[in-house]
Amino acid sequence: MNYRHAYHAGNFADVVKHIILTRLVLYLQRKEQAFRVIDTHAGIGRYDLKGVEAGKTNEWQNGIGRLLEAKFDPDVAALLSPYLDIVRSENTDGAMRHYPGSPLIVRHLLRRQDRLSALELHPRDAEQLGDLFAGDVQVRVIELDGWLAMGAHLPPKEKRGLVLVDPPFEVAGEFDRLVDSLAKAHKRFSGGTFALWYPVKDRQEVRRFAEALRDTGIPKILRTELMIRAPSAEPRLDGTGMIIVNPPFTLEAELRILFPALSKILTEEKNAGFTVDWVRGEQVDA
Ligand code: SAM
Repeated sequence: MNYRHAYHAGNFADVVKHIILTRLVLYLQRKEQAFRVIDTHAGIGRYDLKGVEAGKTNEWQNGIGRLLEAKFDPDVAALLSPYLDIVRSENTDGAMRHYPGSPLIVRHLLRRQDRLSALELHPRDAEQLGDLFAGDVQVRVIELDGWLAMGAHLPPKEKRGLVLVDPPFEVAGEFDRLVDSLAKAHKRFSGGTFALWYPVKDRQEVRRFAEALRDTGIPKILRTELMIRAPSAEPRLDGTGMIIVNPPFTLEAELRILFPALSKILTEEKNAGFTVDWVRGEQVDA
C-alpha cells in the first residue's frame, strides 16, 4: 500500500469525481427518507495543499486551483456551486489551503437522518480519518479492506444510498476486481447507486473494462470520461473515468451541461474531449 492520495488531492481527477459525487448525494436528498453513503476507499478526508506531498506535485493547481478562478455560465455555475461552496467552506480565510476528500464532502451533504460509512485500509490514514470524525454519530470510520464492504455491508439498513468505490489502482487486476465486486454488490443491493472511479491510462484496458461491465447484464450503467490529453504511448493519467450504476435520471443531462465547461477549464491539450454515454441502458438483453 504505497499509494498516498495527498500527492494528488484536488487534481483534475479529484475535482471531476467530487463534482459527480456531490450531484449524486444532492439527488438522494430529494426524498425525506434516510440514505447511507458507503465510501469504500475513503482516504484521510482533508488534505493540506501546503503540505509536503501536495507541494511536491502541485497537481491541485491545475484542478481545483483552475476551477476556483474560472468564470462559468449561469447554468454551469448553478450545478457547480454546491461543490465549490463545500470547498470554500473548508477555506474560510479566502486562501486555498485545505481540500476536502470524498468522506468530508459527503459529510457536508448529510441531513440529520443520513449516515456515512467510510472504510480505509491504511492504518495511519484510517486513524487520521477517525480523528476527523471523532464524536460524529452520523459517520462510522472503519479500518478495513473496502472491497469487503461490497459484500457484507450491503444492503445498508436504510435501503437507499450510494456506494463510492475509489481504489488506488496501484496493483494489476483492479479493473477486474471492480467488475467482480460490482456484480456481487449489485445482487445484494440492486436498487443502490454505485459510483466507480477509474483512471484513463491504457485505452485498451478501459475498453475491456466497459465490455466486462456490459457482460454483467446489469442495467443502467452510465459511463463518464473527461480527458485532459490525447492518448499517449507512455502510461500516464490522460483522463478520469467514472461509472455510475443506477444514476439519478437527472445526472446525464447535468453532465452534458457540466462536462463541456469542465473540459475547457481542466484540459492540458486542445480537443482532448469527454464522453457521457451508456455502457448499458434500461433494457437487459435476453
Ligand atoms: N476517495 C478518496 C477521495 O476521493 O478523497 C480518495 C481515495 S484514494 C484514491 C484511495 C485510498 O484507498 C487510499 O487512501 C488508500 O490508502 C486506500 N486503500 C488502498 N487499498 C484499500 C483497500 N483494500 N480498502 C480500503 N482502502 C484502501
